[in-house]
Amino acid sequence: MKTGMSKKKQTKTRHVPHRTCVACRQKTDKRQLTRIVRTPEGNIIIDPTGKQNGRGAYVCHKTECWHKIVQNARILGHALKTELTSADLAYLAENQPETME
Ligand SMILES: [Zn+2]
Repeated sequence: MKTGMSKKKQTKTRHVPHRTCVACRQKTDKRQLTRIVRTPEGNIIIDPTGKQNGRGAYVCHKTECWHKIVQNARILGHALKTELTSADLAYLAENQPETME
């Protein structure tokens, strides 16, 4: 009778968290998404560290997704449970990360 079979097999690859892009709804490696946060003060900021407090939403690094969230404020507004101002949208448009096509 074999023993030691109950232990889960250890995989060598590190677990990479996945998040859903709010624009295209695709699940992607967290590193390929940008986190946008509504801070407790109500500011909309891009959070490259992923550590900013607040309600966060993720957008992948596709130009079309950034266009989508900048052109349709309701997408992020819904995800962050707030209303985005035109200043917020301009800020996001200016700070679009390097995109991958
Ligand atoms: Zn996307």
